[in-house]
Amino acid sequence: MSESTTIRWEQDETGVVTLVLDDPDQSANTMNQAFRASIKAVADRAVAEKDSIRGIIYTSAKKTFFAGGDLKDMIKAGPEDARPIFEAALEMKDALRRIETLGKPVVAAINGAALGGGYEIALASHHRVALDAPGSKIGLPEVTLGLLPGGGGVARTVRLMGITDALLKVLLQGTQYTPQRALASGLVHELADSPEDLLAKARAFIDAHPASQQPWDVPGYRIPGGTPSNPKFAANLPAFPANLRKQLNGAPYPAPRNIMAAAVEGSQVDFETALVIESRYFTELVTGQTAKNMIQAFFFDLQAVNSGANRPQGIEKRPVRKVAVLGAGMMGAGIAYSCARAGIDVVLKDVSTEAAAKGKAYSEKLCAKAVGRGRTTQEKADALLARITPTGDVADLAGCDAVIEAVFEDTALKHKVFQEIQHVVEPDALLCSNTSTLPITTLAEGVERQTDFIGLHFFSPVDKMPLVEIIKGESTGDEALARAFDLVRQINKTPIVVNDSRGFFTSRVIGQFINEGVAMVGEGIEPASVEQAAAQAGYPAKVLSLMDELTLTLPRKIRNESKKAVEEAGGTWTSHPGEAVIDRMVDEFGRPGRSGGAGFYEYGEDGARGKLWPGLREHFAKPDAEIPFTDMQERMLFAEALDTVRLVEEGVLTSVADANIGSILGIGFPAWTGGVLQYVNGYEGGIAGFVARARELAATYGERFTPPALLVEKAERGEVFTD
Ligand code: NAD
Repeated sequence: MSESTTIRWEQDETGVVTLVLDDPDQSANTMNQAFRASIKAVADRAVAEKDSIRGIIYTSAKKTFFAGGDLKDMIKAGPEDARPIFEAALEMKDALRRIETLGKPVVAAINGAALGGGYEIALASHHRVALDAPGSKIGLPEVTLGLLPGGGGVARTVRLMGITDALLKVLLQGTQYTPQRALASGLVHELADSPEDLLAKARAFIDAHPASQQPWDVPGYRIPGGTPSNPKFAANLPAFPANLRKQLNGAPYPAPRNIMAAAVEGSQVDFETALVIESRYFTELVTGQTAKNMIQAFFFDLQAVNSGANRPQGIEKRPVRKVAVLGAGMMGAGIAYSCARAGIDVVLKDVSTEAAAKGKAYSEKLCAKAVGRGRTTQEKADALLARITPTGDVADLAGCDAVIEAVFEDTALKHKVFQEIQHVVEPDALLCSNTSTLPITTLAEGVERQTDFIGLHFFSPVDKMPLVEIIKGESTGDEALARAFDLVRQINKTPIVVNDSRGFFTSRVIGQFINEGVAMVGEGIEPASVEQAAAQAGYPAKVLSLMDELTLTLPRKIRNESKKAVEEAGGTWTSHPGEAVIDRMVDEFGRPGRSGGAGFYEYGEDGARGKLWPGLREHFAKPDAEIPFTDMQERMLFAEALDTVRLVEEGVLTSVADANIGSILGIGFPAWTGGVLQYVNGYEGGIAGFVARARELAATYGERFTPPALLVEKAERGEVFTD
C-alpha cells in the first residue's frame, strides 16, 4: 500500500474521517506525484476500513483549498510522455471515484480558493460547502491555460448541470466564481461564514444524509437538459461546434474543441467511460505545444512580472494616497477611475472644472453600470466617486504624492503642465507621463527632478485593459521605478518595464502588425482575406479594423516624426510598403479611419462599423495577387516577433516575461502563442526553425523579415529566450 504524504487522515470517535489536504513541501496543494500516491493510499484505506467510517470530509490546512494541476510538471510534458500522463490521470480519478462511491457521505469543506483540480475534488464530493472568504475563487479555469479539467471536471459538471450549462457556465470560459456567485450558479450547495461553521455544516450534512450518493450514481439518473440521444437535443447539436468556431474566429485553440468533444462524447456513455474519454482529450492537450505556451505565459511569466522580478530591490513600499491626474480626456478619465477604485484619492485636473467634470462623468457612468449589474453596491460606488475631485485649478493639487499626466500628445504642452504643477504637489511626488509615443527622456527635461520622472503607459479602455508599460528614461532613478511599479500593482494592473525608445515596446511592435496587414492590401490581396488571416492567426482585433480604430493619420504623424529623428541623427529611413497604402487612403480617398467616418471600413451615422469599403477592391485588389494563407498569417506574427527581437538587441526590452505578457495583454498578440518571444521559442523546429522560416519570408516578401543577428546566434547555440 502506498503512503499518504500530502493528505492527513483524521478520524474522530464518531467515525467521521477528515482528509486534510496538506502538502508538506509546498505552500499550496497541487495534483503532483505525491498527491496522486496519497489519494490512492487514502482510497485504499477507506475501502479497507469502510465499516468504521461514517462519512468523509475533504478540507485543507492551507490558506487555499487546493490549487490544481502541477504546472511545473505539465509544462515539461512532451508527446513521448502521453502514456504515463494518461495512466496517471486515470489512476487518480479512480481513487477519487472509489471514495465517491464508498457508500458513505462525502463532503468538500472548501476553506479557500478551489480552482481546477481543487474544484474537481469538490465535484467528487456529494455536498460542497464553501467558506465565504474574500478573494476566494471557485471554478475550472483550465481552458485559460490551454488545458481541460482532467480530474473528472468535464464528466462531473456535465452530469451536475447538463452539457450546455457545463460548457457555457464553467468549462469554455474558465470562469472563476466568488463563493456567492458559485452558490447562485449551482457550483456549491451552501456557504459558511467561518472555518468553524464550515466544518459544522459539513458534519451536519453527514449526520442528515448517512446514505447519500452522487445524483449520477442514483439508478434512473438522466443528464439534465438531455444528451445527443434525445432528438430535440440532437437537433441543436450542430450549432455547438459552429458557435465555437465563430467565437474563436478560426484561431488555433485546441482546448475549447477538446473540452466540447469530451463533454458531448462523454455524455453518451457510462460515467467510467466518460472519465477515460476525458483523460484522452486531456493528454492530447498536456503533451501539445499550445498548453505549454499558455502555461508559460499565464502562469509563470505573469507571476514573475507581477511579483516584481523587475522592481529594484531594497526600496521600501510607500502606497500612493493622493494622485493628480492631468488631463480628463479619454485616458485621464479612465486612469482616474482605476485609481479611485483602488482607494486612492484623485484630483482630476483639466483646463477648467467643467472639462474635468466631464472626465469624472465617465466614472459616474461606469459606477452606475456596475451597480445596475449587481457588481458593486451603491455605497461603494458613492465612496469611489467621492474620491475623485474635478478641478481646473492647479492649487488643488497640493498634497498629491504622485502625478499622472494625460494631456494631448504634445511635448511642449506636456512640459508646460509639468512646470505648472511641480512646485504645488508634494516635493518628492512621483512624476509620470502617459505618453504613448514621445521619448520619456525628452519629456523629463521639462521638470527639475528628472530622477523622479517616468513613463506610465496605460492602454485604452483603461478600466478594462490590465497592462501598464513602465518606461525608464535616461535619468529615471531606481526609487521612481520601484514607486511606479508599486503604484501599478496598487491599482491591480500588471506592470512591464522597458527602457526609453521611440514607441517603446508596445506602440512600436503593434505598428509592425498593422503595417504588414496594410501592405498586403497594397499588394492587391483581397482585404477580406487579410482580415480573416489576422482572425485565424488568433489576433483579437482584425488588422484593418484596428487600423481604423487607431486612425490612419496617427501612424503617419508618428512615422514622419520618427523619420525626421532618424534623418537628423544621420541615418536613413527605410520605408515600409504599408506606408504608401495609408498615404493613398488619407490623401487620395479621404478615409482617415473610424473617427473620420470612413476608413478601410464604412461607418454609419452612429459610428457603427459597416462593411469593408468596396473601393479597396477597385483601387488595390489584383486577381492574381493570392499568396498562401499561412504566409499571410505568419507575415503578421513574424513582423511583430522580429521587431521584438530587435528591441531585445537594442536593450529596450530586458525581460522575456515582460515581452510575452506585454504583447498579449497590451497589444493583442495571440494568446495561444504564449507571447511574442514564446512564439519564437515554440515555433516548429525551435529558434532554428523560426530563423529558417524568417529567411524564406525575407526572400519572398522583403528584407524586413531578415532575422536579426541575435536570433541567428541563438539558433546556432541551440538556445531559447529565457529570463
Ligand atoms: P484626449 O484628447 O481625450 O484628452 C486630453 C485631455 O487633456 C483633454 O481633456 C484636454 O482638455 C486636456 N488638456 C489639454 N491641455 C491641458 C492642460 N493644460 N491642463 C490640463 N488638461 C489639459 O486624449 P487621450 O486620448 O486621453 O490621450 C492623452 C494622452 O494619453 C496622450 O499623451 C496620448 O498619447 C496618451 N495615450 C493615449 C491612448 C489612447 O488610446 N488614446 C493610449 C495610451 C496613451
